[in-house]
Amino acid sequence: MWSPSARFSALALLAIVAPATIVAVLGYVSIRQWEVSSELLYREQARDMAAMAAEKVEMTLRRAEDDFLDRLQAALRTEGSPGRAVDAVLAGSPLIRRLYLVGPRGELLYPRAWKESDAALFGPLVSEPALRKVERSGKRVVIAENQICLARLTERGGEPIVVAFLRDGDTLRREILETTLGALESPTIIAVLDREGRTVYSRAPIGDAQRVLSVQFRDTLPDWRLAVYQTPGASPRQAVQRQVMFFTGALGVLVAVIVAGIVTTWRLMRRETEMARLKSDFVANVSHDLKTPLSVIRMFGETLEMGRVTDEGRRQEYYRVITREGERLTRLIDNVLDFSRIEGGRQTYRMTLTSVEPLVRGTLETFAYPLAQQGFKVEVSVAPDLPEVAMDADAVGQALANLIDNAIKYSADDRALTVDARVVDGQLVIAVTDRGLGIAPEEQAKIFEKFYRVGRSDTQGRRGSGVGLALVRHIAEAHGGDVTVESAPGEGSRFSLRLPLGRS
Ligand code: ADP
Repeated sequence: MWSPSARFSALALLAIVAPATIVAVLGYVSIRQWEVSSELLYREQARDMAAMAAEKVEMTLRRAEDDFLDRLQAALRTEGSPGRAVDAVLAGSPLIRRLYLVGPRGELLYPRAWKESDAALFGPLVSEPALRKVERSGKRVVIAENQICLARLTERGGEPIVVAFLRDGDTLRREILETTLGALESPTIIAVLDREGRTVYSRAPIGDAQRVLSVQFRDTLPDWRLAVYQTPGASPRQAVQRQVMFFTGALGVLVAVIVAGIVTTWRLMRRETEMARLKSDFVANVSHDLKTPLSVIRMFGETLEMGRVTDEGRRQEYYRVITREGERLTRLIDNVLDFSRIEGGRQTYRMTLTSVEPLVRGTLETFAYPLAQQGFKVEVSVAPDLPEVAMDADAVGQALANLIDNAIKYSADDRALTVDARVVDGQLVIAVTDRGLGIAPEEQAKIFEKFYRVGRSDTQGRRGSGVGLALVRHIAEAHGGDVTVESAPGEGSRFSLRLPLGRS
């Protein structure tokens, strides 16, 4: 059954997990929608901007050329020598690199002769069909890759005249494209591409920028396109992707925190339940532990009191049993009292220089009767030159007694006990070895916890409160040392109590 606090933790967790999950899912869905719509919006805006920029370029170019044609028309109408007036107009129009005027029957009127290879370039253009086209449209047409334009003007006498001119690429770039596109406020790169996709003009180096879209110019620059590029990392999609990554990361952290919270609470809940069980076991075990020696003492005491035992040897044995059980009771009560003092933080230790050998032998002595009675083979080996060690002799004696008591308690058929004391790596090591039940590796760390007793079957029938080893560990640590176990099930255990030698 769950304790109220465990139930509260579970409810609290649920109250966090459920809304957090909903928020996370909603957040994720909306950020994905945002990603899609921002991309759409961005493309729409880029398209509008490109169309507007293209329009502006064409308008500026058309205006410049209209202006040139107006001035040319005025020159053609001047009296005297229109040739010179045309020269003057041409000199003032850097956008026009070459100019030819052709009469209605295809005769070259201006200049006097074709320059260089222009006859081949312009000749076919000013032929009949092209002229008819200009005639029909009534205005200029642009042909031959945007560079050559044809227009129709009239001579002074009213005769139609065909104007063919070649645009100057540099001036087009500098005065038309640069002035119109260079002034546009936009974080994107705008470029003008020719029919082959070559860059005619770009506002900034394109480098590894990505093309977002391109729009076609209309009749002033047919075949050419205006393209919009996006510098790497600057597209809204990437910005949103960064947001998505950030959000996902935050979500991951949130989930990790929640999971960690769940796991910790779960562990705490389990530990609490386990503790509650261990405590109730502890009370039962201690009561049982107290009862057994007490009933033995009573039984033997009553038997002696009744004077029924006449044999002196038997009487002596009964006295010894009473003394042993009395000692056992004392040890047990000492353990419980010390344990409660430790739990309450009231335990103190008095350190005095103590010689080890008498302590070891003295402690073992108190177990002489059970050891002999149960047929234990006992070995004691204390290194001869051990120095005196600063310790609380009572406490260390109690720790050692607990280890010996366990060795006896958890032995099976092979009854052997070894206690040895020596100095290893600057520490006093007192080790208690048995050939008893042994402890499974996964249990070895737990046995030092308070109230912990290894699975019921092994300990069944063996009295114990589960605080003995917790006490040993506490005493060892209070001395600046520790206690460890090496053990294999079925082979026995070796508990080593390590205490620092101190300054010596
Ligand atoms: P207990 O009062 O149960 O003996 P301890 O704290 O002294 O409590 O020991 C904890 C558990 O460790 C014991 O219940 C037992 O299962 C195991 N244990 C301790 N010493 C030995 C040993 N020498 N051999 C096998 N198991 C042992």
